[in-house]
Amino acid sequence: MLVMPAMFVGHGSPMNAIESNGYSQSWRAAGEALPRPKAIVVVSAHWYADGAAVTAMDRPRTIHDFYGFPRDLYAVQYPAQGSPDLAARIARLASPFEVSLDQAWGLDHGAWSVLVHLFPAADIPVVQLAIDARQPAAFHWELGAALAPLRDEGVLIMGSGFFTHNLREFVFEGPVPEWSRDFDAWGRDVLAGGDVDALLDFQHKAPAAHTAHPRTEHFAPLFVTLGAGESDLAAQRPVIEGFWGGLAKRSVQLG
Ligand code: ZN
Repeated sequence: MLVMPAMFVGHGSPMNAIESNGYSQSWRAAGEALPRPKAIVVVSAHWYADGAAVTAMDRPRTIHDFYGFPRDLYAVQYPAQGSPDLAARIARLASPFEVSLDQAWGLDHGAWSVLVHLFPAADIPVVQLAIDARQPAAFHWELGAALAPLRDEGVLIMGSGFFTHNLREFVFEGPVPEWSRDFDAWGRDVLAGGDVDALLDFQHKAPAAHTAHPRTEHFAPLFVTLGAGESDLAAQRPVIEGFWGGLAKRSVQLG
């Protein structure tokens, strides 16, 4: 079986789910170029929990975790099946880290706003993995590394966050702010050089790190992707480059 890539996507506005724009078109193209996965593991910035967890229900609900958007967006459903077997497998692979089997969450917009374009038929099982708010970057990298064998079995591992994310600094018009541009350029070069240690230590090494990520939940999915995809760092390709509201949407495929 083909080894599936590991991906990181900057998901951007939930409106991408119902709009045809450069981002949604890039995701469509990326989905069409991918081999068909047997299942998908999405690590979403929007499930920021006190402990690692994976959705383990047969039918994950579509969660509309945002406010004040048009009614059409609340009507979007992504009716993919879950996979209790894959969830249990993830918990075993992650040991000795504890990953709890969750029956309450589902698919939040970090997952479905991208999946509706990557795999519009929603006919591939999806489980979602939480960011553990108590744990540092290295933990999420190790968790990704523990899940790497799933790629050999046809499972797509996708982190969904943002390459820079600070909603207080969101710009409605005008040029991309320097802090975002600088952080993005640093991350691009460090990624291209395969320097995972520098990325994991971004809070000390990157320019404007605290402005780019005042909290780390939108960057942490990248670390899971890097852990899962490390063997293919040399075979990386950008999926999206660019900014939305000044926030970097850099998205990358490993393998
Ligand atoms: Zn987000």
